[in-house]
Amino acid sequence: MSITQTTTCCYCGVGCGIVVTKDAHQNITLVGNENHPVNKGMLCSKGMNLHYTVNDKTDRLLYPQMRYNKNMPLQRVSWDVALERTAAVFKTLIKKHGPDSVAFYASGQCLTEEYYVVNKLIKGFIGSNNIDTNSRLCMSSAVMGYKMSLGEDSVPISYDDLELADCLFVSGANPAWCHPILWRRVEAAKEKNPSLKIIVSDPRKTQTCSLADVHLQLNPGTDITLHHAIGRCLIEDGKVDQDFINNSTNGYEKYKATVFEKSVFEAAIICGVAESDIRIAASFIGNTKGFITMWTMGLNQSVIGTHKNLSLINLNLITGHIGKPGSGPFSLTGQPNAMGGREVGGLSNLLPAHRNLTNESHRNEVEKFWQIPLGTISAKPGLTATEMFEELNTGKLKAVWILCTNPLISLPDVRIAEAGLKKAKFVVVQDISNKVETLKYADVVLPAAAWAEKEGTMTNAGRYISYLSKIVEAPGEAIPDAEIICRFAKKMNFKGFDYENSSAIYDEHAALTAGTHIDISGLSYTILKEKGAVQWPYPKEEKGFGTARLFTDHQFYTPDQKANIQSFGDENQSEPLTPEHPLILTTGRIRDQWHTRSKTGKVNKLNQHISESFLEINPADAKARSIADNDVVEVLSLRGNVRVKAKFSDDIKAGVVFMPMHWGKILGSDLNRVNNLTNNLVDPISKEPDFKFTAVEVKPY
Ligand code: SF4
Repeated sequence: MSITQTTTCCYCGVGCGIVVTKDAHQNITLVGNENHPVNKGMLCSKGMNLHYTVNDKTDRLLYPQMRYNKNMPLQRVSWDVALERTAAVFKTLIKKHGPDSVAFYASGQCLTEEYYVVNKLIKGFIGSNNIDTNSRLCMSSAVMGYKMSLGEDSVPISYDDLELADCLFVSGANPAWCHPILWRRVEAAKEKNPSLKIIVSDPRKTQTCSLADVHLQLNPGTDITLHHAIGRCLIEDGKVDQDFINNSTNGYEKYKATVFEKSVFEAAIICGVAESDIRIAASFIGNTKGFITMWTMGLNQSVIGTHKNLSLINLNLITGHIGKPGSGPFSLTGQPNAMGGREVGGLSNLLPAHRNLTNESHRNEVEKFWQIPLGTISAKPGLTATEMFEELNTGKLKAVWILCTNPLISLPDVRIAEAGLKKAKFVVVQDISNKVETLKYADVVLPAAAWAEKEGTMTNAGRYISYLSKIVEAPGEAIPDAEIICRFAKKMNFKGFDYENSSAIYDEHAALTAGTHIDISGLSYTILKEKGAVQWPYPKEEKGFGTARLFTDHQFYTPDQKANIQSFGDENQSEPLTPEHPLILTTGRIRDQWHTRSKTGKVNKLNQHISESFLEINPADAKARSIADNDVVEVLSLRGNVRVKAKFSDDIKAGVVFMPMHWGKILGSDLNRVNNLTNNLVDPISKEPDFKFTAVEVKPY
């Protein structure tokens, strides 16, 4: 007998709906959910092959393990032994060195319920804000961009707006590969409406560019200069919305003065694009009724990432293209639940429901709700992703608990993380895979349930909250991440973690949002199961599918309800190029792999697309170095080196090289791992690393 259930894809931030069928042997097959508002039956290659990751359990962690001291091997133990030892070590460290001596490093792939309990545990009960996630590596500049311009981290649009727009500006993103189903919707919209104008800015001519009316192939790090130049053209051509500017924004005059500091000609030289192309892009924007800006890592992963975000959002604000159909600034979430994590306050500088950590009354609201003494939540932001591993090295941080992520591939200048884990007094690794490199450093290993083995919710890039079903049993003794955290909290003797099921965790999270701008107090598992996906806010009185569009009244979430047009210089602050390291390395995703390949790496069909890491290089740069196509080359930076095959491409600008982010150690060698090369510079506002600009040299090997 087979059973059919609906759920949500766990890879990218698009959040596609899936229908899964399970047979009598617990094997599953799947198809896209035709009734889901996001994907309407479509799935990309990753989603289509997701069932292989569930059916193949050969690489799974099956039971808790522990080593009794650093020199001993991991040994199988019971859940009680593993969690009691962990609780005992945490209690000792906290007593001796204070609550900030321990930290949790989690993931944008955690379910909202998992995020909620970890955040509650450390902020409300341990008394430290040392929780950060790999969302810091991808979304934190967008969070700060939204906060500084609109008052809160709030995506104004709905996916349906993509089909209502007349002009899309994709800046620093390759959605054709990284948000494929959303881009299929844009392709369909363009086919239906050929006058839909698409502008793409990217140093690489990606798949997304094949749909572009104009591709601005800019030099890395010059995005603000480009956005300012477009802003200047719009002002010069009288294409700004003066009423909107006067009534609904602050800061326009300063912005105008800033963008007029450079001529469009000067900007074109700096950006390495034709002045005429900048003017064409501006004319598309200036003559449109609906204008959406879309961006992701090309802007976010930068030492000036917050300012890059703001400079793009400014184009929506000066033209009044926000809060109306087919218009708004749209940050494309990288991970499936980066937004859900932010909703529960799952970063070191956030509180639940977009409350401010530094605001005492906000802290008190949360403390009362969690029934803990006032003053328990620290006002001091905790360590961010990169800071955690730096502080393991200095010895200030003693213990780290890593769940659902592999920092030994994904962190910048990754040898800092390696050295940090080596020095750590205590490391807990909670994961699904027995192949993650972090296991080498783990004192305690906790096996977690994977996708389809647990239920919960996620929020995608468009504020749609979706339900994920439990479809099969987890293998061995693996249990859901939220249950692991709650069991640990009880071993620590903390009250408030006695949830009957994940629905109860969800209800508590939803109740804590009541009265805020992300109020979902009207939403329950029952409604989510019935409707598939709904958009927040979803207050008690809501009866439909939530709130499609924010700011329709042009009242923003700032104190005076006006949006802020922010002004700043356009200088790049990245690592300088030198004669020894004259090329710019930029990193990113490829179409058929997901992050550190724990899941996609075991699917043959996906590995067939691109089977190994590579260096994309312009033939002119290669020939100047006597490198032939497919030669093995050595890439060097001030931090380290890698050895990969050179792949010639005219699609990448001369002076720029590209490597994918996905590969780590293979057969003990880390020479595929691009983060051997990257630097640990971060944006001072968002603390997001500068993955898109590393000074390197390439040599024949
Ligand atoms: Fe999954 Fe994203 Fe592909 Fe949709 S677009 S199927 S969410 S990976």
